[in-house]
Amino acid sequence: MAGCATAYYLAKDGVAVTLLERFDLNTLASGSNAGSLHAQIPHDPYARMGDSWAERYRPAVGLLAKSIEMWRDLPRELDADLEVKLGGGLLVARTAADMRAIEAKARHERAQGLDVRLFDRADIAREAPYVSESMIGGAFCPDEGKASPFAATLAYARAATALGVTIHRQTTVLGIEREGQGFAVVTDKGRFAAPRIVNAAGADAGRVAAMLSIDLGDVQGFPIQVSATEKVGPLIPHLLYCASDRLTLKQNGVGSLLIGGGWEADIGPNGTPVANLDSLRRNMAVALSVVPALSNISIVRTWAAIVNGTEDWMPILGEIPREPGFFLNFFPWMGFTAGPIAARIMANQVQGKPAPFDIDMTPFLPRG
Ligand SMILES: Cc1cc2nc3c(=O)[nH]c(=O)nc-3n(C[C@H](O)[C@H](O)[C@H](O)COP(=O)(O)OP(=O)(O)OC[C@H]3O[C@@H](n4cnc5c(N)ncnc54)[C@H](O)[C@@H]3O)c2cc1C
Repeated sequence: MAGCATAYYLAKDGVAVTLLERFDLNTLASGSNAGSLHAQIPHDPYARMGDSWAERYRPAVGLLAKSIEMWRDLPRELDADLEVKLGGGLLVARTAADMRAIEAKARHERAQGLDVRLFDRADIAREAPYVSESMIGGAFCPDEGKASPFAATLAYARAATALGVTIHRQTTVLGIEREGQGFAVVTDKGRFAAPRIVNAAGADAGRVAAMLSIDLGDVQGFPIQVSATEKVGPLIPHLLYCASDRLTLKQNGVGSLLIGGGWEADIGPNGTPVANLDSLRRNMAVALSVVPALSNISIVRTWAAIVNGTEDWMPILGEIPREPGFFLNFFPWMGFTAGPIAARIMANQVQGKPAPFDIDMTPFLPRG
């Protein structure tokens, strides 16, 4: 998505763009994700890394919220049904300690201007009767929701193509060299000259940067998995999370429940990600403990894909200081939600324009 969306916003501003894609479009993380539109600080890294991390991560919440604002209008802008539904996100707590952590996290989110409402047991019973009575409270953020990972990147690609972007599929970038003021990009389909490059290679961004001897540190890929149930009638209008263990749960447009939360998958013998049975069991146990009605609903599919990640979860968006003209569009773990804003930011940066919406880019700029 990072590549197609950046190409779209650049072309919209009249910049000539060529997009190089190793496989086909939308075949990796952007087309295999769970489709959640997140704005809250993710609870799992908060539980591990605490308030000092949340303090540093806070500006990224501003990006996510801004991106969701863009998602609201994206179906009209791209003239496509992206199944955007913003029914709100509900993070539930099983214990008093979880609830205290949720309250502390909400202070960081509110400081960033996010609308986060604390729920007690009665609020949950009223607003989310499908949630187990064992959940004692939670936090509700009305801005969160979901969209279709099958549709969004392809809609950006179509709109970009209509604006003149050339897309070369099945074209692998093998090397990048300095050529005059710009670059030569060496691929298995020949050389391409480019005055500027945006590295939007997701989990492979580190490998692409290394072609110019740039070290992106712990930028890497992690195999994780998501499961889908059979279709059922309307049950869950929210994006649901649980503070006591990893869970994301929502119902998509056709009625399937999508259950995930970043559970580890494996890498199979041919190097592609494959589902891990133990993760599946544990993920389903958490889901069942939060939504008892799942006991009568079958899982029909579990799939695995590689998510682009870093340890500190911080987005890296901007020009590499020692390689002028070489930009990085890397939003770890939640790059589907952030796709629109990260791409809009990137298009402005490539053109030397200030960041959109007066965003202070300092926390996100690449170092080194
Ligand atoms: C299972 C799963 C669930 C997720 N759930 C969510 C969610 O619910 N909400 C959310 O916000 N985020 C979610 N994410 C994260 C999100 O999907 C990613 O952060 C986002 O899609 C990254 O987009 P991207 O365009 O940077 O990377 P990708 O979609 O991985 O695209 C990178 C592209 O670069 C191409 N490429 C790489 N190397 C080369 C090369 N050398 N030459 C040419 N092309 C190359 C690849 O082929 C690929 O098409 C999830 C991820 C996974 C895997």
